[in-house]
Amino acid sequence: MSPASLERPLTLALSKGRIFDETMPLLEAAGVRVAENPETSRKLILPTSSPDLQLIIVRASDVPTYVQYGAADFGIAGKDVLYEHAAQHPGGLYQPVDLNIARCRLCVAVRRGFDYEAAVRQGSRLRVATKYVQAAREHFARKGVYVDLIKLYGSMELAPLVGLADAIVDLVSTGGTLKANNLVAVEDVAEISSRLIVNQASLKTRAAKLQPLIDSFARASAALG
Ligand code: ATP
Ligand code: MG
Repeated sequence: MSPASLERPLTLALSKGRIFDETMPLLEAAGVRVAENPETSRKLILPTSSPDLQLIIVRASDVPTYVQYGAADFGIAGKDVLYEHAAQHPGGLYQPVDLNIARCRLCVAVRRGFDYEAAVRQGSRLRVATKYVQAAREHFARKGVYVDLIKLYGSMELAPLVGLADAIVDLVSTGGTLKANNLVAVEDVAEISSRLIVNQASLKTRAAKLQPLIDSFARASAALG
């Protein structure tokens, strides 16, 4: 008899929204269909057309935690999330494939009219609001800019408008949200896309089922990219 952990289906951790949506074509390329949509279903565990694979739906920033602790065998998470997670839990995750999905940029943005370059040149101490404290800290340290970082959990665009911060570090894709709030991106911090992440023990003990899926995801993302 094999242990129960070898018999339960592989578990893939995803966040709903763009990562779920952009992962579906990768699963379809592996011959896997998902009948339910997490936007309309309240279920947090979703079966797939493969008895060997189930999905769990978690917050984007919780995906690395589920995978690191082995509650999910693998998952898909943005580099933004992985970077913040790694600062707290170094070295715990295998990250074999850049899937090139959910692409955007991590940027510094300020209120239109705020002279960011001048503030940097003058060595002013900047107040920066962000959800991405680690990435922001490293970025400004590299530039030699003194910053007071203010941790936020969402709606970063508001902070410069109401005087909470001079600048924000946030994800930008079209720039539509910045524009709607009279903000402009003034500097890139990093290019962001999502990576496949894998629990290290699962990779060893469940390779027969896991490796073909990893290979299929890699091929499908290369073909789509
Ligand atoms: P939550 O809504 O649970 O607080 P979140 O806002 O990080 O989490 P999403 O907006 O679904 O959740 O973002 C998930 C991931 O998608 C992010 O971690 C990032 O890698 C990527 N992403 C975020 N915003 C964009 C965007 N505008 N364009 C493309 N990809 C994005
Ligand atoms: Mg979001």
